[in-house]
Amino acid sequence: MNHWLETSKRNLVPLSQAESFTEALTEWSFTGLVLDYEDDEIECELCEHPDLSHHFEIRNTQNDNRLLVGSSCILKFSEINIRDTQGRDITDSEERKIYLEDALQKKLIETMLEPLRKLWLKDKERRDEIALKAKHLKSGSGISPQELLFLFQRMDALQIQYTPSRYKVSLRSYQEQGELSLMSKAHLRKIKPALSISQLKNHARLFEEI
Ligand SMILES: [Zn+2]
Repeated sequence: MNHWLETSKRNLVPLSQAESFTEALTEWSFTGLVLDYEDDEIECELCEHPDLSHHFEIRNTQNDNRLLVGSSCILKFSEINIRDTQGRDITDSEERKIYLEDALQKKLIETMLEPLRKLWLKDKERRDEIALKAKHLKSGSGISPQELLFLFQRMDALQIQYTPSRYKVSLRSYQEQGELSLMSKAHLRKIKPALSISQLKNHARLFEEI
């Protein structure tokens, strides 16, 4: 038996009713809860694989025990149940993968929107501006560098915690690229975590020494 399988067995069986590993796995279901750790690296409580940035919660339906695991473990151990919102079992491996990816995407959007809701409540005079930008971000399209800087600065000013890397910058248009090239080093530094690897690569010159 390989190390990964052995570790998973050692962690799961004592928390389950059944004594055989395969049978024990069938007692577990994904709860829908996803935890986002940003840049911290955490471990899968099932196989003990390190370097995860997200946890997916699974629950034993017999005794309510819970484990925080990586999505790859849920996908590798297909006996772990995934049920859709109607309670239907998702058994197709591709569908299972998509379902977990969707759950993660929803969580990431939530991580991004939650601070903006707080900002909207506090920053009464700028509500329209904030709501419009939040709407763009929620739809998956990024906002311009200046727009993002505005949100970050308002959240800083009102001491609202947020995770910069969860926001998306759009650099498709000339105007957006122009905004970026006119930014001061301090402002570039502020929005840098929101840029993707390819955006940073395309604008590497601006980010030298930042
Ligand atoms: Zn794992």
